[in-house]
Amino acid sequence: MQTQLIKHDKKQVDKIDARRRHYILAFVSYITSLVMFIYGIKNIHAEEILLPVILFGTGLLFLVNIIVFQISDNLDRACAVEAILVGFFVLSLVFQGGYNNTALYWVFPFPAILFGLLGVRKALIFNFLLLTSLAVMLYIPDLIPAQYKDAEASRFIASLVIVIIVCWINDFYRERSHQAMDKLQESKELQANTDALTLLANRRFIDSSLMPNLAEQPELFVPLALIMCDIDHFKRLNDRYGHNVGDDVLKAISMLFKRNIRQQDFACRIGGEEFLLILPHTNHTDALNVAEKIRQQVSQEKMLKQDKHYQVTASFGVAICESAEQYDEALKLADKMLYSAKNAGRNQVAG
Ligand code: GH3
Ligand code: MG
Ligand code: MG
Repeated sequence: MQTQLIKHDKKQVDKIDARRRHYILAFVSYITSLVMFIYGIKNIHAEEILLPVILFGTGLLFLVNIIVFQISDNLDRACAVEAILVGFFVLSLVFQGGYNNTALYWVFPFPAILFGLLGVRKALIFNFLLLTSLAVMLYIPDLIPAQYKDAEASRFIASLVIVIIVCWINDFYRERSHQAMDKLQESKELQANTDALTLLANRRFIDSSLMPNLAEQPELFVPLALIMCDIDHFKRLNDRYGHNVGDDVLKAISMLFKRNIRQQDFACRIGGEEFLLILPHTNHTDALNVAEKIRQQVSQEKMLKQDKHYQVTASFGVAICESAEQYDEALKLADKMLYSAKNAGRNQVAG
């Protein structure tokens, strides 16, 4: 669960990437439609009616696509439609020849745009299809009304292949380095949120991951049971058997917590020998039962190899948190309960 919450935070990275695609989408839509309308007006009296129709038609479709995106917020669909429009525009322009047969010049920006919109794999397939269709048109001139010179066709295809390959290498490694950074960041984040001795979550995890998530989506957590746990007479244990044995006990207790909680629960080490178990969607009675079960297991487990008769025990305080705002108050109550469990003789649960 700890990893899941940290991964959830990493969504921020995806948001930034979505913004990159959003900007490419908006830029291509507005600029392309503007250019189309300008050339459409320029060519409104052209001999061939097809050219202004292509220009005005695609210009309008680019505009409609960005407007639909603004309303629906469906980025994947808008990018896919944009790529189809780009493909349609490129093919129809080369088919027709464009103003003074200059259509081929306009093709070069589009491989990079397709990579920006679709991501590496889809863009590569799309570019390959586009390239093949263009090659067919150029090498079988009877298929199209536009007339290109033979040398022009070969040079155009060769340079387009170079552009596509360079865009592909560039985007492939951009995506790779993005993934590697993402993994590195995730593992650093996990490390910073983990207690080195027990490998449980630490206080930083509660503050920087759990609390923002609780505030953002309380319905995923509340009622949230807080079980505070403190090992009894731990100082005495350290004094008698040494710090290393104390450390082993902390590790053994942590393992015991992990064995006894659900996948969606959190076990945190919040102090030297103090722990906090955080149980989402758990009511007071269930939380008391969990605490009691763990208390019994702690008091029964033989945690010391050196002295099988030494019984480690712990005390527990339980409280329920109903909302993010109430968390501090609930934590204080759990602490107060722990204090009363200690006062009542230790090795017990209060709540
Ligand atoms: P109580 O039953 O009232 O909780 O008594 P206690 O002795 O457990 O509590 P106290 O707060 O007096 O002592 C806590 C001890 O925990 C003191 C400290 O040396 C020890 N401690 C804190 N962190 C670690 C650690 O990482 N490893 C070990 N071995 N001991 C630690
Ligand atoms: Mg203690
Ligand atoms: Mg303590």
